[in-house]
Amino acid sequence: MTDTGNFNYHLSRLVGSFVAKTDEGYELTYAGRMVVGAILAGTYDAEATVAPIPLDWDCLQCGGAFTLGYEDGYARLQCQTCDSGAVIPIPPGALDSVPVDELPTAVMQWYRARVQRIRSGFCSVCTGRTERRLTDGVDPEADDPTPSTVRFECRRCDTVTTLSGATLVTYHPIVEGFFREHGMATDRRHPTQLWNSIESRVQTVCDEPLTVEVTFGTDSESVSARIEADGRVTNVERRH
Ligand SMILES: [Zn+2]
Ligand SMILES: [Zn+2]
Repeated sequence: MTDTGNFNYHLSRLVGSFVAKTDEGYELTYAGRMVVGAILAGTYDAEATVAPIPLDWDCLQCGGAFTLGYEDGYARLQCQTCDSGAVIPIPPGALDSVPVDELPTAVMQWYRARVQRIRSGFCSVCTGRTERRLTDGVDPEADDPTPSTVRFECRRCDTVTTLSGATLVTYHPIVEGFFREHGMATDRRHPTQLWNSIESRVQTVCDEPLTVEVTFGTDSESVSARIEADGRVTNVERRH
C-alpha cells in the first residue's frame, strides 16, 4: 500500500473482532476468517446455475419423478408431475467443482449439516442462538393436510427458519440410526425419500400445550418421538 495512513486507519478499525495484533504483525481472528469464508462461499468463477437433472426419487405426494436444479443460491427439488418439492439454500462455493452426477449427494450432505446446526440451536445465517417453538400441529382430517411446523427465530439477526416436525425428528441421532439400520443414509437422500421407503405418521397428540408425535416404521419395528410446544424433541423410542 502506498497510502499507509489510509491502510492503518482501516486496519485499526478491524483490530479486535476480525484482526488480532501479534508479535509478528497482524493476523485474522476466527471471526475474521469466517468473513473471508463467507465471501469465498458466495463467489466463485464457474457458472452457478445447474439446469434441472432427473433423480431416481419419487414424489411423496403423487409418486411423480423429482428433478434437482440449482440457481441463485438455492437448490430446488421439484416433482415434474405435481410441482411439490423443496428449496434448499446453499452457497455456490459449497458446490464448486462438484461433478453434476455427485450434485444430489452433495446437496443432501449440505442439507443434513444445515438441519443439524439448526437442531442444535444455532442460527444458520449468523451463528446466534435461536428460540424455537412448535407452531403448527397436523389435522389428519383436513382435505389438504399441511405438515407440522417448528419455528426457529434468531435472537440476534431475526432470521426465521422453519422445519417440519418430521424433518426435525428424522435427524435425531437415534432416528438416524434407525434409518441407517434399514439401509437408508440420512446424508444421501432427502427426508421425503426416507419417509417414502418406510411408513410414516405425524399426529397431534395434544392441543394445549401443542404436542406432536412422529412415528416411522411398522408395528413390528418403529421409532417414534414427541415434539413439545417449546420445540424440543423428547420421548425418542425404538420398538421391536
Ligand atoms: Zn408430485
Ligand atoms: Zn442469526
